[in-house]
Amino acid sequence: MKKIDILARIHDGSITSDEAWSIHDSIIYDGVVNFQDVMMLTLLEHRAFCHGVNYDELSRWRYGGWPSTCQICGREIDINREHWLARSKEENAPFGLAHIACLPVSRESKEGEK
Ligand SMILES: [Zn+2]
Repeated sequence: MKKIDILARIHDGSITSDEAWSIHDSIIYDGVVNFQDVMMLTLLEHRAFCHGVNYDELSRWRYGGWPSTCQICGREIDINREHWLARSKEENAPFGLAHIACLPVSRESKEGEK
């Protein structure tokens, strides 16, 4: 399968976000397991994508800079060296990053369902 630098194409305006998703869907439909490779995402971009950051936002991160601070403690995050999670504070809010260690532990998930 031909590779496509999806984030660069969004950035230069040659494809829309909807088109990015169609390409994504066709790759998944074709059963291409390594879409990180086909979409030419870096390891960190792929990780953020898996946390829910969409292609539009990821493209802005690549060309405009990643969030540099933790949403919870406010300290800097070194994305290459620290454990982080991409998250949005509420539905449809832009994504940011948080240190894994700063995340609140969910009681519900520990206690399980009753
Ligand atoms: Zn933190």
